[in-house]
Amino acid sequence: FELRNEDFKDLQELGQGNGGSVKKVEHVPTGKIMAKKIVLIDAKPSVRKQILRELLIMHDCNSKYIISFWGAFLADPNICICMEFMDKGSLDGIYKKIGAIDIDVVAEVALAVLEGLTYLYDVHRIIHRDIKPSNILCNSEGEIKICDFGVSGELINSIADTFVGTSTYMSPERIQGAQYTVKSDVWSLGISLIELALGRFPFAESSSDDSDLSDLEGTLSPGAVLPPPRSQKEKDKKDKRKSHGVSLQGGGMTMSILELLQHIVNEPAPKLTPEGRYPKEADDFIDSCLLKDPDARKTPKDLLKHPWIDHARATAMDLKAWASTF
Ligand code: ATP
Ligand code: MG
Repeated sequence: FELRNEDFKDLQELGQGNGGSVKKVEHVPTGKIMAKKIVLIDAKPSVRKQILRELLIMHDCNSKYIISFWGAFLADPNICICMEFMDKGSLDGIYKKIGAIDIDVVAEVALAVLEGLTYLYDVHRIIHRDIKPSNILCNSEGEIKICDFGVSGELINSIADTFVGTSTYMSPERIQGAQYTVKSDVWSLGISLIELALGRFPFAESSSDDSDLSDLEGTLSPGAVLPPPRSQKEKDKKDKRKSHGVSLQGGGMTMSILELLQHIVNEPAPKLTPEGRYPKEADDFIDSCLLKDPDARKTPKDLLKHPWIDHARATAMDLKAWASTF
């Protein structure tokens, strides 16, 4: 079935991200409800067509842990990506609505994401590259699926050219310019799971305000994701805040994006806190996701054998009942 922009009726705004916006829509000829992601791409027609071709791989991504893909098309100057609509939305929205998520549910989330990542990598050699709560979706059947994975190299390039610097789930090695591997996704999963269990982004509170940009610059290698070094004058703190615009708030403290990246590289990884509140296996799982050395960190496939995940699989919590509570 060929999807065309004029066949869609907008029903609801679902949210806005860095790369675009997502709407709940009806595909009128079939009556099917879908989520339509609109990505503004500032690129040549040839590049857009290349992106569309690359997105077709998503037709072959069939797993109960991956959002289904219905098709993509150009609607100048945008690219529209139509996918399965998940009626309970993303996990960031869910925890902001209901508060910190029960650790047994978090274990099911970990299981689903690891299964999804393992499928993408083993079957398609795809690395997700953007694991975070807003890219983990839930529906009223209690299914948990991942979306927005990096299928199209051209799409990644086009978006990365335009948007730099808000990648706060990024692993230390990526911040320092190393290649993406499946293990970078594991780091992002660890951060995301802590966020769900605590009901807040784990870095915001540990901020201190005495950081100096030059520390971070020393740790960066060519090809690192950060913008180029600023002039001395700009290193002045107030200018620094202004020039980056983005700040994270929590517990009355704020951290600019650069301070956050510096923190991720230089400070110990976050943990589930307070210690002792969560099952030992959960603490251990999170710790192994957040090993700062990517060589020591496990792959998604290895982590599927972790006792915490084994336990989640064996108990098979009723997520449908859980999803009916919000
Ligand atoms: P970023 O652009 O930084 O990746 P994001 O993931 O929040 O951030 P989008 O991918 O544009 O941005 O998604 C915006 C919101 O739309 C998400 O937070 C999510 O709540 C909602 N959403 C995305 N895809 C779907 C879907 N298939 N079904 C239901 N809701 C969705
Ligand atoms: Mg997203």
